[in-house]
This record gives sequence, C-alpha cells and structure tokens, in this order.
Amino acid sequence: YGDRDGKIWMDGEMVEWRDAKVHVLSHALHYASSVFEGERCYDGKIFLSRKHSERLHKSGEMMDMPIPYSVDEIEAAKQAVLDANNLTNAYVRVIAWRGAGEDMGVASSRNPVRMAVTAWEWGSYYGDAKYKGAKLDIAKWKRPSPETIPTAAKAAGLYMICTMSKHTAEAKGCSDAMFLDYRGYVAEATGANIFFVKDGEVHTPIPDAILNGLTRQTVIQMLKDKGITVHERHIMPEELADFEQCWLTGSAAEVTPVGQIGDYMFEVGALTRDISESYDKLVRA
Ligand code: PMP
Repeated sequence: YGDRDGKIWMDGEMVEWRDAKVHVLSHALHYASSVFEGERCYDGKIFLSRKHSERLHKSGEMMDMPIPYSVDEIEAAKQAVLDANNLTNAYVRVIAWRGAGEDMGVASSRNPVRMAVTAWEWGSYYGDAKYKGAKLDIAKWKRPSPETIPTAAKAAGLYMICTMSKHTAEAKGCSDAMFLDYRGYVAEATGANIFFVKDGEVHTPIPDAILNGLTRQTVIQMLKDKGITVHERHIMPEELADFEQCWLTGSAAEVTPVGQIGDYMFEVGALTRDISESYDKLVRA
C-alpha cells in the first residue's frame, strides 16, 4: 500500500502517498496508542461521515488521547483527500496516533497526537461471499470485558486478537472469524457486527462488549421501518442451531450474508437479500 501515487492528508498538510511515513519510535507502534475509522464514500458522499468523525473523537477521549482536530476539520480533511485523489467511490481510513516525542515509555502524554486521512478504491470486503454467503470460523479468543479495555472505542489495541483470529480462520478456508465475548455470548466478527433471523424476526447481540457499529444501527432502524421485530439480546452459541439466516454489517463489509459458522449452516434467504439491497440503495440515496 505504501508505494503508489496519490495524496495523503497528514497533520494538516497534503503529502505525497510515498512520503506519508512515521518514525519507528512512534508510541503507537510500541503500545497501540491509535484510534481509527473506516468509512465508505458512495458517488461522492461519505455515508454517515460526521458520525464517523464524532466516533473518532469519542474513541480518542476513551483512550486518553484527545484528537487535536475538530469534527469540522476532520470532515474537511476527508473531502480534501477524496478531491486530491479524484475519488468518488472509495474506502476512507482516518487514523490518529501518539507519535514519537518526549517519552518512550508507556506514558505518552508528552507525545503529540497525530492524524492522517487516506482513501483508496476498495471493492467488496468479503469478495464473492457478498453473494454466496461467507464462511466463519469461531475464534478461540474472546472479546474482552468493558472493564478490561474500553470496548466501545475503535482502537488499535482491540484488533490484535482480530488479526490472529482472522489468520486462523483463513487457514481453515473461512472468510472471517466470529467471536464470543468474555461471558460466552455471541459477540461480533473481526470487523463487523452480526445478525440472525428466526421465524421472520431478527436477533442481534446487545452492544455491551462490542462496537455498536454505525451500520448495525442503520440496519436495525431499516428493519424497524420495514415492521420487522428486532431483539437486541444476549445470544448463546448453542442458539446458532435454531437460526435460519445470518448476516454481517460494517462500513467496509456493508451487509454480507453468512452461509456457515463453524458447523452451523444458514441459508442466504429473502430477508438477508432484502436488507443487503436496501442498504446498498440507502448509502447511495
Ligand atoms: N465491530 C468491529 C470490531 C469493527 O471493526 C467494525 C468496523 N468498524 C464493526 C463492528 C462495524 O462498525 P461500523 O458499522 O461502524 O463500521
């Protein structure tokens, strides 16, 4: 990703893609002091752009690394990056991190928080699973308690077990892994929330130990608008046997059907297709 043409917004300036570098003594590299957003731009407009910028601010507050740019400044930076790279349909990645500075220990309050905005064309996150249904492994790692780490933040430290679990899943021929949380309840995938269908009603985990995804919130509202009952509740893994359909939601993943989790099979059914298509329409509306 590093060696290509293009522009990246870094600390208030537009720099060449190849020159957007950080020092090896960046605090974030050693201690995961980094928060980020993943967003999609459709036909020139970033879906829920402001909500993403607001979440970045909240993640920064939760992780004790206040973002040194206002939400309006982040919004302007994102648009500037899309314009500079001539992109109208793109994935947008905003990242803020503790840089190299006065401290090189765990404490970092004297290391400035830096920010960068990048964007590139990115197709379907799960490839053709978007049509056939993704196959998920059940991760051996558990999503941590909110008393262990602020689970509502979109912060780099929360992703180490995601990377490990995704590697294990891919080695087994799966597209992704589904986590249980520290209590043993069904939680989320490595970068997406999860929904199930049974008898025409929808069930999804309560976001008390997972990221309450913006796509998740959008899809719940969409279901309610269609008159479909949504149960936000704790879901036991044994219940996977009773569910007929399943899908994932995320800014990158959009609405992706799931065909299999471990040994449990799901059909890519009418409601899954309907929600996936309705979401694709909504983001371009
Ligand atoms: N859970 C995790 C762990 C994620 O990384 C993401 C992607 N940001 C989501 C859920 C979905 O969040 P959103 O719909 O806001 O992209």
